[in-house]
Amino acid sequence: MKKYDYLVVGAGLFGATFAYEAAERGKHVKVIDKRPHVAGNIYTKEVDGIQVHQYGAHIFHTSNKRVWDYVNQFADFNRYTNSPIANYKGEIYNLPFNMNTFNKMWGVKTPDEALAKINEQRQEMAGKEPQNLEEQAISLIGRDIYEKLIKGYTEKQWGQKATDLPAFIIRRLPVRLTYDNNYFNDDYQGIPIGGYTQIVEKMLDSDLIDVETNVDFFAKKDEYLKDYPRIVFTGTIDQFFDYQLGELEYRSLRFETEEKNVGNYQGNAVVNYTDAETPYTRVIEHKHFEFGKGDKDKTIVTREYPADWHRGDEPYYPVNNQRNNQLYAKYQELAKKEPNVIFGGRLGQYRYYNMDQVIAAALKTVSKEFDN
Ligand code: UDP
Repeated sequence: MKKYDYLVVGAGLFGATFAYEAAERGKHVKVIDKRPHVAGNIYTKEVDGIQVHQYGAHIFHTSNKRVWDYVNQFADFNRYTNSPIANYKGEIYNLPFNMNTFNKMWGVKTPDEALAKINEQRQEMAGKEPQNLEEQAISLIGRDIYEKLIKGYTEKQWGQKATDLPAFIIRRLPVRLTYDNNYFNDDYQGIPIGGYTQIVEKMLDSDLIDVETNVDFFAKKDEYLKDYPRIVFTGTIDQFFDYQLGELEYRSLRFETEEKNVGNYQGNAVVNYTDAETPYTRVIEHKHFEFGKGDKDKTIVTREYPADWHRGDEPYYPVNNQRNNQLYAKYQELAKKEPNVIFGGRLGQYRYYNMDQVIAAALKTVSKEFDN
């Protein structure tokens, strides 16, 4: 067998960033992935001239200038700004919660009027420390918005009552007293022109990196551990240890993708369905990520259905409640007994990372590995 310095398990953003940086330092890297393609969940594929986000919508956003400059080495980014809308039983609201939302909800026109209304609604939680997502949402924004725009979506997304969910999930969402529909507060945002797959392909395009897809690490785990001096593992940490301490929980997704013979189906890239009855959480119309580029008479739409996760399903989200975080901490203890294995990424580190955080975490791992 050819001699490698590293085996990287998983050709997603974490693994690819690590492999790229290792090769830049003259290391030989083997990358394997169980899927038939690289790029993990940021994989995009062209259909009808449209970049289809095969594993859910990915919008790159960051306030980390270093990460923004870093990722721009591998693609040119457009000026896409995420401005999802919510459809609640046919009523349309702007997201994130901003003056447009408040105007539609209550008829208020000025920030003072909106604030007065929000404060009135927040009274329900006055003096109480929010103990769960429902209480957090009401204390942030009040009951009207909670009932129409948060409760149904969140309970579908996580498959649990909002009163059983941790408060931090909702802190991701900005609240604004301006007429600004930009979903993110970050300094930089965009979609790579021509899709995400090119980013990972470019990262892995080195004479020092060999990539093999359709390869299951667990079919030959012991051999890999014996043959490679260092392993970067980006799969689920509980599976790596054969679930010996019990299963971590994940949330899965199911995507239904359809080609439609219309040029413009919903007028926006992302429409969230925030009621409890609609079984999907959102509908993505991919061409709007690149301002309508592609076949002008066709469009590709994807409905996203949240799903329970069972062994063998694709894990999309870690469920970072107390029980799981404690169990993860125990797996981290086990990981210390595998000093030649580095665990990374959303699954390896069991964190609800965004793409920029994945790159930042990978670069941190790189400097720990090479800069001492
Ligand atoms: N959320 C909501 N209503 C929406 C969109 C999001 O209540 O229309 C809540 C929901 O609890 C969700 C969280 O905000 O889990 C984070 O949403 P985000 O869009 O950041 O999640 P992602 O895109 O990572 O799935």
